[in-house]
Amino acid sequence: MRLNGKVVIVTGGAGGIGRATVRKLVAEGARVVVADLALDQAQAVVDEVGADAAIAERVDVSVFAEVEALVARAVEAFGRLDVMFNNAGIAGGRPLLEHDPERDYFPMIRIDQDSVYFGILAAARQFVAQGSPGVIISTSSIYGESAAENAFAYGAAKAAVISFTRSAAYELGPHGIRAVAITPGRVNTPMIQRLGPELGSLFAEQQASGRLTEPEEIADTVAFLASDEASAINGTVVHVDDGYSVFKQRFA
Ligand code: NAD
Repeated sequence: MRLNGKVVIVTGGAGGIGRATVRKLVAEGARVVVADLALDQAQAVVDEVGADAAIAERVDVSVFAEVEALVARAVEAFGRLDVMFNNAGIAGGRPLLEHDPERDYFPMIRIDQDSVYFGILAAARQFVAQGSPGVIISTSSIYGESAAENAFAYGAAKAAVISFTRSAAYELGPHGIRAVAITPGRVNTPMIQRLGPELGSLFAEQQASGRLTEPEEIADTVAFLASDEASAINGTVVHVDDGYSVFKQRFA
């Protein structure tokens, strides 16, 4: 029960990593706002973990007013906010030379990049208003630190998540706020499953273990980072990529 009494917002809470994280946080004693564009699926997560521990909220994280309202809703429901997990996102992309910026760049940047800025800003204002410490964890990706096929916009957004995290830790540290980015590798969620079994197998081979990471393994890391046990982890990137970033040359 490392998170007893803590109030956490999980964006993308209805997706693979989000859902596993909500389960883990509740098991550790937290009360959680399961926030997602897909309200029915967010509600299904709440039904599973129990309405005393969680609520479902519809949010489009690419709209600042909606993220602000989400934070206000968490405070209304649970009295405070302790941890913001900026995790909602989309993947995909096209070769650069085929780009239409309106289709291939701006939507991705709004959802995967601007959303994290909005989440950091809204949560930090709440932490400061409460006069209490807080933690902001944001989901980047191995693509935020390397080049990859068809990832021009996705990689840029995920690199920005790391930069936001560093700046947030620097600026907000004096208020007792920690910011950490995580870089999952290949995680067994709908995001990867949608790409089909062939690509799934290739992705698995690119990891040190030869298998995809399970979302529960990411959730365990998030729960640790959210806890006071991680009090000295700030402004940095925690790689939860099963060796991908270190070993990928082996597979070239
Ligand atoms: P997922 O598709 O299972 O879940 C993503 C969730 O985000 C979905 O529930 C979706 O409804 C929600 N969402 C999308 N756009 C939204 C919006 N505008 N507002 C609110 N909610 C929105 O994917 P996942 O694998 O669980 O991904 C979670 C995060 O992890 C993403 O940021 C993704 O980029 C990142 N990531 C995933 C992998 C992987 O291999 N699965 C690897 C690295 C990073």
